[in-house]
Amino acid sequence: MVSFELVGRINRDDDPSCVVPVEKYVSSRTGMKLYVNKVPGPVVEGYFSLATEASDDDGLPHTLEHMIFLGSQDYPYSGILDILANKVFAAGTNAWTAVDNTTYTISTAEKCGFLQILPIYLDHIFYPLLNESGFVTEVYHITGEAEDAGVVYSEMQSIENEDENVVERELAKILYPDPECGYRYETGGVLHNLRTSCSHAKVIDYHKRMYKADNLAVVVAGQIDSGELIEVLEKFEEKILSKTKPEELRLAERPFCRAITPLGQSVERVVYYPSDQATNGLVAVAWRGPHITDLRLIIALDLILYYLTDSSISPLYSHFISEKSYCNKIHYRVEEYRESYFSLSFTNTQLDALDKVMEELVQILSDLTEGKIEFDSDRMSNVIKMKISEIHDKLEDSPHETMSMICIGDFLYGNPHNPLDFKTRFVQTKIFESLAGESKDFWLDLIKRFMLNSCHALVIGKPCEELMKSIGNENKKRVEERKKALGKKGLKELKIKLENAIEENDECEVPDEFYDSIEVPLPDKINFKQIKQFFSYKENENFEPFDKCFNNFKNLKHLQIQVDHLEATNFVQAYMIVDTSRLSDDLRSYLELYTNVMFELPVENCQVKLTHEQVVNDLNKELLEFDVSLGINGCEFEPGSFSQYLTVFTKTQIGDYELAIKWLKYITFDTKFDRQQIKISINNLLKEIKKRKTEPSDLISSLANSVFFDPNANMNRNSFMKQEAFLNTLLLQLDSNDSIVESKLCEVRSQLLRNQNIRFYFCTDLAKLSSPIDCVWTKYFPDSMLNSNRPFDVKPIWSQKKSDSTCKQDFVINLGSTESSYLRLVSSVDINDYKHENYAGLLVLVEYFTQTEGPLYEAVRGPGYAYHQSIHVSPEKALIDLGLEKCANLTKAYEATRNLFSEHLEDDQFDENLFESAKNSLIFLLIDDLKSVSNFSSYSLSTFFKQVEIDAVQELIKKIERIEMHEMKTLLEKYLMPMFDDCHSNCFVICHPSKSDSVSSYFSEKFDRKLNVIAKADDCFLN
Ligand SMILES: [Zn+2]
Repeated sequence: MVSFELVGRINRDDDPSCVVPVEKYVSSRTGMKLYVNKVPGPVVEGYFSLATEASDDDGLPHTLEHMIFLGSQDYPYSGILDILANKVFAAGTNAWTAVDNTTYTISTAEKCGFLQILPIYLDHIFYPLLNESGFVTEVYHITGEAEDAGVVYSEMQSIENEDENVVERELAKILYPDPECGYRYETGGVLHNLRTSCSHAKVIDYHKRMYKADNLAVVVAGQIDSGELIEVLEKFEEKILSKTKPEELRLAERPFCRAITPLGQSVERVVYYPSDQATNGLVAVAWRGPHITDLRLIIALDLILYYLTDSSISPLYSHFISEKSYCNKIHYRVEEYRESYFSLSFTNTQLDALDKVMEELVQILSDLTEGKIEFDSDRMSNVIKMKISEIHDKLEDSPHETMSMICIGDFLYGNPHNPLDFKTRFVQTKIFESLAGESKDFWLDLIKRFMLNSCHALVIGKPCEELMKSIGNENKKRVEERKKALGKKGLKELKIKLENAIEENDECEVPDEFYDSIEVPLPDKINFKQIKQFFSYKENENFEPFDKCFNNFKNLKHLQIQVDHLEATNFVQAYMIVDTSRLSDDLRSYLELYTNVMFELPVENCQVKLTHEQVVNDLNKELLEFDVSLGINGCEFEPGSFSQYLTVFTKTQIGDYELAIKWLKYITFDTKFDRQQIKISINNLLKEIKKRKTEPSDLISSLANSVFFDPNANMNRNSFMKQEAFLNTLLLQLDSNDSIVESKLCEVRSQLLRNQNIRFYFCTDLAKLSSPIDCVWTKYFPDSMLNSNRPFDVKPIWSQKKSDSTCKQDFVINLGSTESSYLRLVSSVDINDYKHENYAGLLVLVEYFTQTEGPLYEAVRGPGYAYHQSIHVSPEKALIDLGLEKCANLTKAYEATRNLFSEHLEDDQFDENLFESAKNSLIFLLIDDLKSVSNFSSYSLSTFFKQVEIDAVQELIKKIERIEMHEMKTLLEKYLMPMFDDCHSNCFVICHPSKSDSVSSYFSEKFDRKLNVIAKADDCFLN
């Protein structure tokens, strides 16, 4: 029986602007949808999406999502999907619950693995076990100590009180006042509801109602035939048809189909979130947008919001950030719901400005529409051009995900009766092009119609110390009351109930025959043919095909430049890499400010004189992307890897490659340090610091760096904890009228921009270049300006480590902005280069424990102690760290981890199947890292810093394949066990102030490990 029918198709014949061909099928028997996206490359990704509407805050869509993975009718083994996925070279499965959909994902290194997993995954989605024991551990339970726990519970606990979440939840309730409307609910589950009203029975009922075949879209991206997929799906449909009564086959009512009440009046509210810092607040304002069928109007709104906020010359940014310094970021979002909404949020807003934002926003929007602020039509056309390039860029960068998201949008809200609607969704560039023809009045009209003349929802979020205390107290009180009510006997029963549930979940062991029946494919080897490297300072081979683009490569001898030829890319990426290691230490603290202000300064050289406004305008017009950071791919206060190097990055379409090189020169050599811009940058950075101090992982990383590394290392000098006082001093200096700050920044620049400090990296498809590149490089960087034939040396960061004896300190830090707890153990290792003999083995060991549904996952997440666990090895830092994050029960999570490792050491519990899975999933991750064209360039750039050859990843894969299980025990003893020994590791804990004393006494009583309690984050950075 052929049930899947082709209902939509887009390919290059239909439309030359189509980049990835798509086919859409619908089954006539069950209504199931299938989308096939022909994305090139070895990796195949699947997205299984269901429309899931909630009718309260119980979190049924999310709790169900978690329980899907606990085994199915035909495969009643918890976690089998992941173990299987890892074995066939796939990434552990994943899933998300959004406001309007629940989507399950899988990514495999080739199609054979994908086709084997597909029916097993579908069995989990349609026929999950949904046992009560699974609900107990995975969703919510009360421990034998009367505390709340569970995987979903700890996940939601870690985010419920975050400022942005508090504000967003309120916004949704205002925007969609109709109690029947799913858009207003927290589909993840509100803690109170998870404790009191969410239940096992409700989850079962929700599955029964929503998980129907006609509510599922199977979205596949990769090189795989529709025929092969349909064969698997039709076979699975047989099971559905045999088990379902015809009248129960389809949804009783499609989610999100009911009419939605419009927002009848403007509503303004203040909400509070817990915080122990005098942090800033948050303002969010939102309006209802057009109906989903009006895609053109939704895209137009997206564009006008971008125009209003994108850069320092946009109207809202220049008023609220540059001029008034109320906040440091303005974000916008457009949610494509059936009845859409869009919002503007002003983050890190000063408390005294919270009440002024709305009024001034309305003023600026009115001024724009009345012509008092000029609307810049040229900038708008640039915005549109840039957005079109961005679409092409995304299709090259992350084609699987980009295409799949469009498919999910079509599944949720597309009009199946209108073929044009399907086409418009997939070829959105057409809409952008048509919008480019719109006049100024069109854009101003949008502002009037949808913002000024529409009802709005305004939510002001304020930090509240009282709330922080009361949440801690309420939790304590609840536990105490429970203890009283339940008594010893009742608590013991809870303890037994939990133990039984854990046991029951793991009752069915996966039979060996099952493993043996799985055909393990050979993953496609990574194709390195598409990349070729050339160096200006070395002899190069295979040069001829690109002769014409180099003209004479010898002309570049005065520069340290690496040119990569990358087949099939349509873009150019250029990097200037600056070694900061020779910078004097007092100037090193200026690096964060220096990088932050770099793209905001006027430019002056023999050719041009550009004001700040012109620079910002031209950068956004001429470049597709630009960035600067410490280390590769770093961001504000978060240096990337190899943080002793400053990297300036530009990206353009191939035809504009000269602009990429031009801006590298202008931005680094020709800027004028403008006092006003410096001040704006400092104010922004100071606001960012306040925010960072409330983020647990940022705090731990910053603290760990200061414990392990020289205080003069870039990451310490520029850590957010160290910069607050420094930047405040600079502000005073700027006010005092002498130009000390400007001259210091000039000094930074002149010390950095010296011959031996600079290296370039340039990557593109050389065959597509029309003119020789050496002339362009010498035009902007002539030998009279830069001349270095000394090789650029790479110094590893571990050389800046303190001696091990000086960094022995353990901490527990109070943080009131979260109810969850976080733990990190860090120790030094002898693995300090990427070719180290134990590196591959240790990666396998780490993957063995941490793989999804692997031993560590089962030990700490299974019972609901912690939501996230990870181990990370860094040869660059010669460190290994173990993290237990979002813990509902930190001490239990710690103990379970420690016991797990000791047991493996003592009685050699390593499992052959898990070991094979670990090796294969590791290999998959390495292949997946290089799945798109653009990944190759960052990989190639990183090989230089890692001091390995271009084929290093293949070598690593070969080594991984050869690792044997008996090697694991020695590595475990040598590298993982020392983390539990306070002589060899550091322990950092972050938790709510109401818990720190008990955590600290637990460690000292049980493990004789003394954790210093630090009352406030600031205190650990005083010296
Ligand atoms: Zn979750």
